[in-house]
Amino acid sequence: MKVGFIGLGSMGAAIAPNLVTAGHGVSVWNRSPEKADPLVAGGALRAPTPAEASRGEAVFTMLSDDAAVEGVSEAILDSLPQGGVHISLSTISVALADKLTEAHAARGQHFVSAPVFGRPPVAAEGKLFIATAGAPEAIEKAMPLLEVIGQKVQVFGDKPSAANLVKLAGNFLIVSLAETLGEAMTLVDTGGASKEQFLDFLTSTLFNAPIYKNYGALIVSEKFEPAGFGAALAAKDMRLTGEAAGALGVSMPLNDLLQARLQRLIDEGEGHLDLTALSLLAKRDVR
Ligand code: NAP
Repeated sequence: MKVGFIGLGSMGAAIAPNLVTAGHGVSVWNRSPEKADPLVAGGALRAPTPAEASRGEAVFTMLSDDAAVEGVSEAILDSLPQGGVHISLSTISVALADKLTEAHAARGQHFVSAPVFGRPPVAAEGKLFIATAGAPEAIEKAMPLLEVIGQKVQVFGDKPSAANLVKLAGNFLIVSLAETLGEAMTLVDTGGASKEQFLDFLTSTLFNAPIYKNYGALIVSEKFEPAGFGAALAAKDMRLTGEAAGALGVSMPLNDLLQARLQRLIDEGEGHLDLTALSLLAKRDVR
């Protein structure tokens, strides 16, 4: 299939090569053009503009936030053929997904939300977990592409923004986990028990899940760089979660607290660190 890929940051640069390897004709664009060089060397076509990347049957966007996606959306809307599908992988707001759904429909195009769970190394292996939603005919077109980049693709109905809500709710759980693990480990450590043993005990019994093991290991080793899921991106996601909750009249007091904790980390100059660096705050606050 002829597809475009817009956004070759940590995630996009890891995902796009899998589409090339699967035999698709992939046109790539990135704001900083040099990030396209490895892709082009690997068989992708260099698109000089976002518009040029949007002339195929489908175009992916994998950009940091709403502003970045809005910055390329006019070009995509003007260039995508009738029946073409804009597949949005970024973690963006429910409101923007709704807006793009309408804008694409007005031009006889489709918008499919397909936000992803998984860090760049997981993306590079084509093993992302993907929540998706969109019109059935659009999902049918997008599915063979999504199956190349993910190990599990779950459809959440025909309203694209439902998938964005699932992604935000999932990230809320992940950020909560980083905060609670940080507090629990500080408590154990300050009282003289071993953090390593605590983590090993819990993750081999009640909390036997990869996310507890992986995040727990980062907190124990205090290895917060390079960030897999940066604190600044997590702050953006918790803000979007709060906005979505507000629009739906849902109360999420814990989300308010997480936003404040992440903001403090950013204010203390550590927004570039992994979100598990939230554990540093608990440690710093020990009296
Ligand atoms: P990243 O490494 O910071 O890359 C961001 C990308 O967005 C780059 O291609 C950047 O271009 C582009 N960009 C930013 N502002 C732009 C603008 N105004 N106009 C055009 N392009 C712009 O971020 P990432 O880790 O790849 O994350 C991408 C998305 O995936 C985010 O929504 C994130 O929340 C989500 N996500 C990330 C992870 C993760 O573990 N990293 C996991 C799941 C989901 P330049 O190269 O020119 O800066």
